[in-house]
Amino acid sequence: MVSNRLPFTVDRRPEGVRIRRSPGGLVAALEPALAQRGGVWVGWTGAAREDDDTAAGAPPAATENVQYRAVPLTAHEIALYYAGFANRTIWPLFHYFVGQTQIDSATWRAYERVNERFAQVAADASDDEALVWVHDYQLLRVPHHLRRLAPRRRIAFFLHIPFPAADVLRVLPWSRDLIQGMLAADLVGVHIPSYADHVLTCAERLLGCEVDRGAGLVRFEGREVSVEAHPISIDVAEVERLAEQAARGSDAPDTPVAEILGVDRLDYTKGIHERMLAVERLLERHPGLRRRIAFTQVMVPSRERVAEYGELKREIDETVGRINGRFSERGWSPIRYLVRSLPPAELVALYRQADVALVTPLRDGMNLVAKEYVAAQLDDDGVLILSEMAGAADELQEALLVNPFDVDEVAEALHRALQMPRDERRARMSALRHRVRANDVRAWVERFLEASERAGLRARNTVASPADALQRMLAPWLARRSTVALFLDYDGTLTPIVPRPEDAQLSEAARQTLDQAARTPNLDIVIVSGRALADLQQRVGVPGLTYVGNHGFEIEGPGISFRHDELERWRAALEAAAAELDLLTASGARVERKGASVAFHVRTVPEGERRRLERQAEALLRRRRLRVSLGKGLIEGRPPVPWDKGHAVLHVLVHRHGADWPSRVSALYIGDDRTDEDAFRSLEGIGRSIRVGPTAGGASYADYRLPDPDAVLVLLRWFASGAFAGAKS
Ligand code: UDP
Repeated sequence: MVSNRLPFTVDRRPEGVRIRRSPGGLVAALEPALAQRGGVWVGWTGAAREDDDTAAGAPPAATENVQYRAVPLTAHEIALYYAGFANRTIWPLFHYFVGQTQIDSATWRAYERVNERFAQVAADASDDEALVWVHDYQLLRVPHHLRRLAPRRRIAFFLHIPFPAADVLRVLPWSRDLIQGMLAADLVGVHIPSYADHVLTCAERLLGCEVDRGAGLVRFEGREVSVEAHPISIDVAEVERLAEQAARGSDAPDTPVAEILGVDRLDYTKGIHERMLAVERLLERHPGLRRRIAFTQVMVPSRERVAEYGELKREIDETVGRINGRFSERGWSPIRYLVRSLPPAELVALYRQADVALVTPLRDGMNLVAKEYVAAQLDDDGVLILSEMAGAADELQEALLVNPFDVDEVAEALHRALQMPRDERRARMSALRHRVRANDVRAWVERFLEASERAGLRARNTVASPADALQRMLAPWLARRSTVALFLDYDGTLTPIVPRPEDAQLSEAARQTLDQAARTPNLDIVIVSGRALADLQQRVGVPGLTYVGNHGFEIEGPGISFRHDELERWRAALEAAAAELDLLTASGARVERKGASVAFHVRTVPEGERRRLERQAEALLRRRRLRVSLGKGLIEGRPPVPWDKGHAVLHVLVHRHGADWPSRVSALYIGDDRTDEDAFRSLEGIGRSIRVGPTAGGASYADYRLPDPDAVLVLLRWFASGAFAGAKS
């Protein structure tokens, strides 16, 4: 089990450290499930590392079958990861509070770092037989990091808050990272079908994944990921037990005053302020109800480290004061409110007494208070007014459903609830109670674990190669145009990177495939390199292809022969720089004269000397006013004109297919190097690009990744076979 918080709170008191189990049905359901199977719970203790002498040694196991591993966090990390990215960025955005969403790359970086640490602890605490169940919005990136550390781990993820629509999620600069983070699991669980739809749409639209909506599957990085709705529930038996106790203990006669109840964490998503306005509207419209209703609002303080929450408290205080000031009479005030957390027995007693529960969040993943209120109505009486924006509304259709933003509508629903005939109340409540009892939280845990097993098996059986997975993603895009222009970098893309560039030979298999590709109809192959054109042509040696050498300064191919017209002017400077670089070659560095550029190769220079030589070479090239670029183990000087692989790719496309090529040609560029990023960038939005190399490697303009030249060759074979044309439909 991996969750932000361990299932207990560590309190520091004068008499020593006190450990309290976290209240709530979820912990009560997860712990026994974990104990039954035997397992480890990974999470944060709630205390900062600097002041937490107990952080290293987490509290002892509750049972011998459950161990706890604490993930230590410093106060700074808590401020950025928890109070920052989790609660000021993801929380508001996922609840559709777009304007309140903070976009701050420092908090994002901390979130990423902390998620990586959680994944590391989880990886160390499990093996490939284990199922790792990751919880909630604080840990969206954990499946991604865990998959990287332990590729064969079974991973399930459950999101306890809403998952927003694609147009909302994309506001976040890191929206893709978050979806990728979740999709590394075998199963992604959310509360209700509409959240699952949003996950599928985001995977499709923001990541370009192939999605099977009927089956609830996403093809992601060669695996099939299940996305399922599993509405969470409550510990029904416990609520019923407390409700019975409350009934026995209560000697209050039925009062003529109708009790209305609201119970929430103090959070702007809960619509507490709007709810107060609805009570005010009710009293305005129906003066006869004065003295005959009492509204009790319980507000549990929460997230006091986040500034917005203090502001909210002040706003609610003011509104309550104003409304009470306006309507109170001797011995009666319409609104009573408690700002504290109540013990479960007291809370359930309030549920039991309340004639109407007013549960009107502006947006809520599920809302357990609604289900608890229903479970506590042992005599099937009581009316639930429930926001349509709560996940619980999906199941609790017999409640009076309201739009919480519509103050008039909520006031009218209150009026209706207060007037509702007993038969109608009982009909509605018994149907609700039946539904809540049928889906207890223990059943929810079991069903989710079964679904994880199924998803884990399917994911293991459907692992496709990265090239296969990419083919499936590209096929629909390729099918939209008649021709494919495929640009391939040479070193690191068609051939593996080798210590000495002169040894980078094209394999026979790659040559044959290129040979076949040169004859494939509707396929235009272009080889692009920083190497001199003649060198490149000689190494590939396949006729009928287009060759782009010297980072685009020279191009030769069927119907095209191009040399950049600035080259002549810079020839002397390039030669002078090369002559100076010759003097730096003592420790094994090598100078390559490429006509339109000069390269200084340092890959074979001993580590200790390399940096110094690189700096000298760079300074020398800059003195000659050449443009310096850093490649893999080399430094290059080129004429300082705005021309690179990106310009060259567009030049070839326009020259060969006309300025309006994007309507007819699918342009795809595959490369591995920093200099290829220029091409990725110029094709952004008008073509597609693939970066070759390990997934972990930094930011890129590329749309997709392939791990190595072998995977490129598999994809190239598919193009050469002409099968991409079969994708047209
Ligand atoms: N709760 C509590 N003490 C209180 C008030 C509420 O323990 O004084 C519990 C309540 O029983 C419910 C949970 O807090 O289980 C609130 O869950 P919900 O899904 O309604 O909202 P969340 O706080 O998770 O957004």
